[in-house]
Amino acid sequence: MQFQYYMPVRIVCGEDCVRKNHEMFAQFGRCALIVTGKSSAKNGALDDVKFALAQNGQGYAVYTDVPANPTVACVQAGAEEARRIRADFVVAIGGGSPMDAAKAIAVLARQNAEEGIFSHAIGEDVLPMLHIPTTAGTGSEVTQYSILTNDEKQTKTSISAPSLFPKIAFLDGKYMSSLSKEITVNTALDAVSHAAEGILSVRAGALSDVLARESLKIVFGEYPALLSGEFTSESRSNLLYGATLAGMVIANTGTTPVHGMGYSLTYFRGVPHGRANGLLLPAFLQECEKSVPERVRMICDALGMGTEAFSEKVAALLGDRERFSEEELRDYAHRASLNKNIKNCCVYFSEERLLAVLCRALGRRTR
Ligand code: NAP
Ligand code: ZN
Repeated sequence: MQFQYYMPVRIVCGEDCVRKNHEMFAQFGRCALIVTGKSSAKNGALDDVKFALAQNGQGYAVYTDVPANPTVACVQAGAEEARRIRADFVVAIGGGSPMDAAKAIAVLARQNAEEGIFSHAIGEDVLPMLHIPTTAGTGSEVTQYSILTNDEKQTKTSISAPSLFPKIAFLDGKYMSSLSKEITVNTALDAVSHAAEGILSVRAGALSDVLARESLKIVFGEYPALLSGEFTSESRSNLLYGATLAGMVIANTGTTPVHGMGYSLTYFRGVPHGRANGLLLPAFLQECEKSVPERVRMICDALGMGTEAFSEKVAALLGDRERFSEEELRDYAHRASLNKNIKNCCVYFSEERLLAVLCRALGRRTR
């Protein structure tokens, strides 16, 4: 057996884990920049962080200007704020957008990226980060990726470096109680996609497979709650745990053409990230089944159903699909064919094959 596995993030999980472990904040310095979105920290998370910092006599400033799908401008402004207050560390509170923005801010607060953030070789000198997810999906709290909107290339581009792993991820499902059904479904589908794509990655290994299968079982085990929109605190915690497991998978395997195609749906049409993956994943799995049936069987066994049944269940969660023209889908297939995660999949997806997936997912059953 041969594999590699790396996960340097300390994971602290449980109700009130931020308050109960406030002393863990103390080692990172005198002053924190708290990075969040407009509303995503107003579910008790910001109060808990303020409490923890106060216990240690640490100061802070709050930077709330992170939009969904963070931009280069927002991370540059955040970095300026970090320098202004001489922040020693960053606390990220929110969904994937604030968590990803915090990573780029932590870099730009310490490094000049004159050649542009996307071409910059990220060194070790990055502010330490503590991440607190308020959505259960991206797994950004345990990954070394920060995904930013790249207007020059009209897509979303990830920056990645070992120094982008947060030092600690605090997981508390109570922060998700304010999430709408729609965002809960979208983000859960992102987690399912991460786990499934991890199994189909050329970098999949024994340990990432274990984590991916467990994640699929846990997240899709919450299907009745996802369908009804009625979430108990246990189902919230399960979704969060499952999403973090899936994050631990992609930290080691990366993603595949599902994400490559999904970025166009988000960039050009504003489809939320998780929903974009949910729209594409079933058709992608059906295409992979022709080439690597044993890998897709591993996914199906964990889900407890075949690809056809999975497709129907996901369709019931997604409701009416967005309408796309053939021209748009051809353009998205071309763009996805140039994405680096094409090479990361154990099945080769030519532009034609990508188009076939896009058409099956979005072409026929449109409104
Ligand atoms: P998001 O863009 O962070 O948040 C979506 C919406 O949910 C925002 O309006 C946000 O409000 C709101 N929200 C967040 N937490 C809430 C809560 N507890 N209660 C009520 N509303 C809440 O969505 P996301 O799906 O979590 O993240 C998507 C981003 O993550 C994309 O940019 C994607 O590319 C990236 N991503 C990163 C990785 C990685 O490994 N780094 C992996 C997958 C995806 P606010 O406006 O207040 O924030
Ligand atoms: Zn994702």
